[in-house]
Amino acid sequence: MSDCFILLSAGKSKRFKSKIYKQFITYKNKPLFEHSLKTAIDSNLFKKILVVSNKKIKKNNYKNTDIIKGGVERYNSTQKALDYLKNKDVKNVFIHDAARPNLSINLLKKLKYELKNNRAVVPYLNSENSVKYKIKNKINNLNRDNVLLTQTPQCFNYKELCKLYKTNKKKITDEASLYLNNNRKIKFILGDKRNFKITTIDDLKYLKQENYYGIGFDIHRLVKNKKLFLGGVKIPFHSGLKGHSDGDVILHAIIDGLLGAMRKSDIGTLFPDNSKKFKNIRSKNLLQPVLKILNDNNFSINNIDINLICENPKVSKIRNKVIKSLSSLLSVNRTLINLKGKTVEKLGIIGKEQAIACEVICSLSR
Ligand code: ZN
Repeated sequence: MSDCFILLSAGKSKRFKSKIYKQFITYKNKPLFEHSLKTAIDSNLFKKILVVSNKKIKKNNYKNTDIIKGGVERYNSTQKALDYLKNKDVKNVFIHDAARPNLSINLLKKLKYELKNNRAVVPYLNSENSVKYKIKNKINNLNRDNVLLTQTPQCFNYKELCKLYKTNKKKITDEASLYLNNNRKIKFILGDKRNFKITTIDDLKYLKQENYYGIGFDIHRLVKNKKLFLGGVKIPFHSGLKGHSDGDVILHAIIDGLLGAMRKSDIGTLFPDNSKKFKNIRSKNLLQPVLKILNDNNFSINNIDINLICENPKVSKIRNKVIKSLSSLLSVNRTLINLKGKTVEKLGIIGKEQAIACEVICSLSR
């Protein structure tokens, strides 16, 4: 028994006044529907993924993915998907709107976890606005803490959902309504603000990426009988870098680059070098609070380009090791990190192998 991710991509986008259906408009270089599809594939949580679309999509482009034709309304498309999965040994279905491109693997994992003890799990957000409702001509206040704005993916035990669909006669806007109409229990979990739905063409404005760039530079003196750390990893070498911390020039330059792009001053302000707290600290521990600022402010890393300036060690020999370490420390794909080596024709203290310097450019988006 396995879980299936169903991507509903057959909508006619009535409120989205454009010639192209909104799930196929280009957003960050790919059609809108592809974003959450890719997240589902990359999550490795699903043996089977099903896209319901009324437009031809090439199946071969996506791993473990089947594509079927949708219905007129959303619930018709869901019905077709459920029928298609018959006898395919599916335990739970995750039903997602293609118009929510910013689905995160984290939310998928949270939903999956809750499905261990629940037969229906739906993400929601609280309303940030005051809510009123109208009965006849009287407008009433509603306590916004009692308002749940539901998101997708909405997740259900496959068999139970099929049963409810079979007996349902009403038009429903989502599967959560079907459950509630039948007095079934749903476990609501806090969703993700970024996972919003694109309904009108104006919503696209909010998706426009803001890019920011930060530059970082650092240099430390090389001293004998010290371990050398570069990019958070130990490098075999006859000398190490002298500093208040472990002297990791790459991590220090990256920290400054990240802080620069976020406009949050610099490494010295955040971690004063007269503080005992940071004496001999491994620089990878300095990176963690910076990544927290990054996450708390909804930044993500586009790419990082690094120049390591030294005669030795040779960058070609340590490149893979350093990039692997940075990729894991920063939780970004290796392909987004580049490390270049630069010697200085034996000039100055770097040329005489008495110091190593590093410069970095970080690109972030929000
Ligand atoms: Zn430093």
